[in-house]
Amino acid sequence: MRHSVAMAGAIAHELWEHLLRADGQQDVTLATYRPSTGVERQSYLIRTVHPPRPGERDVHGNASFTGDYVLRVASAAFADGSGVAILHSHPGGRGSQGMSAPDADAERSYAHLVHEITGLPLLGMTLAGGDRRWSARRWSPTGEPTWCESVRVIDDILHISWNDALRQPPPLRETQVRTASGWGPKIQADIARLRVLVIGAGSVGLEVALRLAASGIQHVAVMDFDTVELLNLDRLIGATRLDALLRRPKADVAVRLLRQAATAAQPDIRGIDYSICEPRGHEFALDYDVIFSCVDRPWPRAVLNMTAYADLIPVIDGGLHIDPFPDGGMRNATWRSHVIRPGRPCLACIRQLDLGQVAMDREGLLDDPEYIRRAGQARAPARQNVATLSVSVVSSVLAQFVSFVAGPGGRGEPGPLQYLLTTHSLSHLRYTTQPNCYFENATAAGDQRLALTGTHRKAEEARDSRTQTSWQARMISLAATAVQALDERIERCAIRSLRSRSKDPSRLRRVAAEDGGPAGLHE
Ligand SMILES: [Zn+2]
Repeated sequence: MRHSVAMAGAIAHELWEHLLRADGQQDVTLATYRPSTGVERQSYLIRTVHPPRPGERDVHGNASFTGDYVLRVASAAFADGSGVAILHSHPGGRGSQGMSAPDADAERSYAHLVHEITGLPLLGMTLAGGDRRWSARRWSPTGEPTWCESVRVIDDILHISWNDALRQPPPLRETQVRTASGWGPKIQADIARLRVLVIGAGSVGLEVALRLAASGIQHVAVMDFDTVELLNLDRLIGATRLDALLRRPKADVAVRLLRQAATAAQPDIRGIDYSICEPRGHEFALDYDVIFSCVDRPWPRAVLNMTAYADLIPVIDGGLHIDPFPDGGMRNATWRSHVIRPGRPCLACIRQLDLGQVAMDREGLLDDPEYIRRAGQARAPARQNVATLSVSVVSSVLAQFVSFVAGPGGRGEPGPLQYLLTTHSLSHLRYTTQPNCYFENATAAGDQRLALTGTHRKAEEARDSRTQTSWQARMISLAATAVQALDERIERCAIRSLRSRSKDPSRLRRVAAEDGGPAGLHE
């Protein structure tokens, strides 16, 4: 299991305010967190800051705190189904912070007590005042620390403090020099370490995932339960008639294409043959730092909307709407993009999710034209899509991503955007959160979120149907597998021979210099 901490920007600002004192001394505070449990990652979501009351802590160069303070917050945590975090600052520190012996003793001495009261491990965190980098560890009840690989602050810019010892910055490679020269090796190293999940391997999702892999991101996954069919081929660039004939899962085809596009030294490309609406699919999603929502159905969109707040995993969403005249011809087309995260209105509040349709989708009724007609629903979610315009949605959501992770000019993601094709104008949409928005009120709920997942009959049927193939298809499949294995061998040979060429560091520096790229590139 990997470990990671996440917090909304508002909580991070509250902690900076308290921990980074004007007089330059160390300070300490307690907070509560909720666990959010994925398949391979356990996250700790900071929920509420409980600043010390008078007499509960002492600032004297090294801050200390009383046992009564810990008991007070541990009781509040227990009542809320939460765990306890002890946070302190190293005012002049920069980068990942280790623990001094007194720091470690102070945290260790409460590890057992806090676990007894709350049933959850104590979390210890250090804030480096010099660059606002966080370090975090979880304590076992017996007082053994396990370091967290990252601390994620979800603000208008995604600030991730990586634990360089656990997640080393991947080496920059010749294939990435031009990408890195766009934002510098530090941002490249931070972005390359992100775990990014794309939900939906359709025209938008597949293209987004390919671009992410090509830009050097090491961990890219695509989740889709669907099977490639002939009617997809006008939009799934790279999928073949053979994929359709062999009824290959879209997730597998995506993995094949992404591996060819990936430039990371050790790409970890995964295909997840589930729906985000299935409990297992959702559990996989909780392992990722950023999610792209490239699905148009209300149910998965509702699950993603919940995940963005309850599990503090920002969701970048976008969509295309084509408005044809009833008798042919095009009235207009619009596309939108937005980052869904705490601090921004949710998909329902920006009217990109019709909650009335979620239950219908879950019951499978949106696939039943007779039901839709009888219920007097205007229509199911629009299915029109054209490859020439879907690339505009791809570009729009990727631009949101770059603003969110690279913060050009110090500015983060811009909020909801809409592009109108008729006039070719881009507008910033001004939406505010509806009062009592259920999703936004679930911020940092973690594993206690309202479960919107359940049995997904269509996903189960799609997986089952692939086992029933004809013998001809099985023979062709065997031949295709052999050809693919040969192809992969040739690719590996090419990689080896290219690698020995680019091992020469002076060559990489020369390429970077010719590009006007940053100094200090290394292989
Ligand atoms: Zn909302």
